[in-house]
Amino acid sequence: MKRESAGSLRPADAGRRVRLVGWIHRVRDHGGVLFFDLRDRSGICQAVVSPSDAAAGIAGKLRAEWIVAVEGTVRLRQEGARNPKLPTGDVELGDVALEVVSESDAPPVLPSSTDVPDEAVRLRYRFLDLRREEMQRNLTLRHRVLQATRRYLDAGGFLELETPMLTRSTPEGSRDFLVPSRLQPGAFYALPQSPQLFKQLLMVSGFERYFQVVRCFRDEDLRADRQPEFTQIDIEMSFVDQEDVLSLAEGLTRALVAEAGWELALPLQRLTYAEAMARYGSDKPDLRVPLEIVDLSAFAASLDAPFVQSALAGGGVLRGLRAPGGASLSRKQWDELSGQIERFGLRSVPYIALAEDGLRGSLAKAVPPASQEALCQALGLEQGDAATIIAGPEEPTSLALGVLRLAFADRFSLRAPGHRFVWVTDFPLMEWSDEEGRAVSRHHPFTHPSPEDVDRLEAEPLAVRAQAYDLVLDGNEIAGGSIRIHERPLQERIFRLLGLSAQEAQEKFGFLLDAFRFGAPPHGGIAFGFDRLVMLLCGAPSIRDVIAFPKTAKGTDLLTGAPADVSQVQLDELHLGVKAAKEPER
Ligand code: ASP
Repeated sequence: MKRESAGSLRPADAGRRVRLVGWIHRVRDHGGVLFFDLRDRSGICQAVVSPSDAAAGIAGKLRAEWIVAVEGTVRLRQEGARNPKLPTGDVELGDVALEVVSESDAPPVLPSSTDVPDEAVRLRYRFLDLRREEMQRNLTLRHRVLQATRRYLDAGGFLELETPMLTRSTPEGSRDFLVPSRLQPGAFYALPQSPQLFKQLLMVSGFERYFQVVRCFRDEDLRADRQPEFTQIDIEMSFVDQEDVLSLAEGLTRALVAEAGWELALPLQRLTYAEAMARYGSDKPDLRVPLEIVDLSAFAASLDAPFVQSALAGGGVLRGLRAPGGASLSRKQWDELSGQIERFGLRSVPYIALAEDGLRGSLAKAVPPASQEALCQALGLEQGDAATIIAGPEEPTSLALGVLRLAFADRFSLRAPGHRFVWVTDFPLMEWSDEEGRAVSRHHPFTHPSPEDVDRLEAEPLAVRAQAYDLVLDGNEIAGGSIRIHERPLQERIFRLLGLSAQEAQEKFGFLLDAFRFGAPPHGGIAFGFDRLVMLLCGAPSIRDVIAFPKTAKGTDLLTGAPADVSQVQLDELHLGVKAAKEPER
């Protein structure tokens, strides 16, 4: 008999004899009558075995996660025994014949349980964890979004072309994973941080529209929710300007999120980097939070606080942010918030609160009575609200307010339901790196400066804007890209500004500079962080929940034990010695 899907049976099937093969999801013994749920990828179906049935002997032995083949007759469940939560909840299999296909030890992760074990156990037994309905759903959506990507881009005339995994390091600002060459002692390949230079070369080669679903590797200290290897939807186009790339990316985004049932109205909202920083204190603002930073420079002269005067004398800004309901925060709670903004050089969070008995808070005394009303109005304060007011150099002040904006959103549950997409454009081309003691590229060195700023490159490199853009979803960067430099002299100029000598530039990027001598088309592109996008579409708490076999925050694969020691023979073949062998951190 042909195998059918457990999740497909409906009342219309009543009377049919069917064969299902799948896992025992759950067994229940109701006074000798055994009920078991059989699970396969399509869903779950209940089967019933009475003590008098021939199958009773085998049925009594069944345990969770054994695989069985069941032949049975579909029948309607009795009134009161129906389960409206299950698509198959109106039917069950009776009169069953059973055959054990595969036995199971007691599983450390039980797919039928709502008690999800620790992540370490889940990752160690990932093959079991992946049997859980949530993980099956996440990876199924991942697949669907992937297929939608291919359909959309193929229909748009894009070619999916593969680029090497063993390559030479491309600078995306992270450390490379290196692979020693056996055939060339002492030489190393790098795993790609992104296919950036190859996709640009494919434009020089005349393919005009390229995409790739591609694994990228970055050897970072894994802060937050990152993986050392991750998947990008990588896109590059020739003879385009920024508008063309944004509109392609918007169309693609709409098609992808539709797989999760989201509807997207186009065009998407846009903010320049300068606006995003001034209004939200972030280059990836979460627009579900209805708070905006307010410029308070008009109040600078009237505020009687030395830190305000000295910040402004030094060319700084004065800005504030409302905390709706914030008058309920105690001084201790304000002090706790200050821990989050210490890194911006602030020791405390100066604040005012509009309480029943008037203005309170650490800054209240600095506000002369004559300015109180106007200040409260500028900040949008109503009774019961508070606001923080910060003075200082522009960037750290904005960033600190951006952090507090999210902290207020968390504390007072301010995020509106739904999802908010926004483009952030006109990023600075370069930023100062204290570590390097020089300007470094903000995106990567192949990003085209805004044409109107090119003349200022040498004089004011940090003021130059780039034709670079990020797509932000609910405070997460989900895609980023730029128009590229395709003119050799300009590319050489940028390398010079970044402190690369002509010789170094030739050594590292000679192949790109050479390519630009032979008819390079104007081009640009974008890359979507696929794991993060799918995570947001699934509503999953971590990208690990949308990757079949992820690594821990320390970069360990708990399933296989990678990274692991290798034999001396392997090291010798690779001409390698290990300096100090250390117990690997798990
Ligand atoms: N290569 C860039 C990145 O990985 C994306 C791009 O510029 O297209 O972030």
